[in-house]
Amino acid sequence: MAAISAGKSSVTARAPGKINLHFGVGPLGDDGYHDVASVYQAVTLYEDVTAAASSEFSVTVTGPAATPDIPLDSSNLAVRAARLLAEHADVAGGAELTVHKNVPVAGGMGGGSADAAAALLACDRLWHTNLGKAELAELAATLGADVPFALLGGTAVGTGHGDKLTPALGRGRYHWVLATSETGLSTPRVYGELDRQRSGSGPAADPSIPDVIMHALRLGESGLLAASVHNDLQQAATALEPRLEEVLHVGEKAGALAGLVSGSGPTIAFLVPHAEQALDLALILAASGAVDGVHRVTSPAAGARILRPHDGH
Ligand code: ATP
Repeated sequence: MAAISAGKSSVTARAPGKINLHFGVGPLGDDGYHDVASVYQAVTLYEDVTAAASSEFSVTVTGPAATPDIPLDSSNLAVRAARLLAEHADVAGGAELTVHKNVPVAGGMGGGSADAAAALLACDRLWHTNLGKAELAELAATLGADVPFALLGGTAVGTGHGDKLTPALGRGRYHWVLATSETGLSTPRVYGELDRQRSGSGPAADPSIPDVIMHALRLGESGLLAASVHNDLQQAATALEPRLEEVLHVGEKAGALAGLVSGSGPTIAFLVPHAEQALDLALILAASGAVDGVHRVTSPAAGARILRPHDGH
């Protein structure tokens, strides 16, 4: 694929990866999906998507988290997002997309969803369709449950399939060490394992957000937040990937306030009190040999935004 040539109009948008501070999963619905109750928080690990004017749709994936498994055809989430916007706003042309990936693929951090959100925003600017965030959020929800949150960023409660968002009040900045894995976990497989684990024990309760976690976020108290984080998918993810138990053990032994599987995993997010402890823990995890990668991030991070518009002049 040709590189984006000088002189061509292009726009770069950035969208964040997420962790789930609380993830409650309800019973399996008739539509094959589970209702969830999620507290999303965006973290400072970003996807950058550049959209350049073109008559066709194409995508190139680069960056430290790029892998050969990412589809480069019309099933790529950034391409799906760009095509959806073009159809919705009657845009005749296409876009040459370049995704710079930092968020691990199939890592439970919504990386593909961030690509879709950034592609929507970049193409909206490139094509001057000026939909605005509310209309983009409606399109986003049809692309995937986590896409609206990647547009919004910050901290939010997600219900329904995770796409019905309410921004949450909160203060403080949290320090995390993310332990990543080169082998992803398929989200449907993790839900399947949860259903298997639950079979025979009656229908699951409807998911809800415990008051204590919203209280911790309002106070901006990392100790209280650590005591409140929870993920209903954690046991299913660790059953499919037993190595995660070892990672959790290493982090907790090294003094993390809490260790939590993010979404459907296998990324584990460790909450620490300060930036110095984050550096210490990152070194311990890397030296343990139990993880493939470590990232120090903070939260909450901003939602999708334009980084660079280029007019080509
Ligand atoms: P979530 O937490 O939202 O369930 P995830 O972070 O676990 O998702 P993603 O990295 O978003 O997982 O990708 C899930 C799958 O989507 C990948 O295995 C890949 O096949 C497909 N995919 C399509 N487009 C993209 C993209 N632009 N980036 C990454 N994966 C993509």
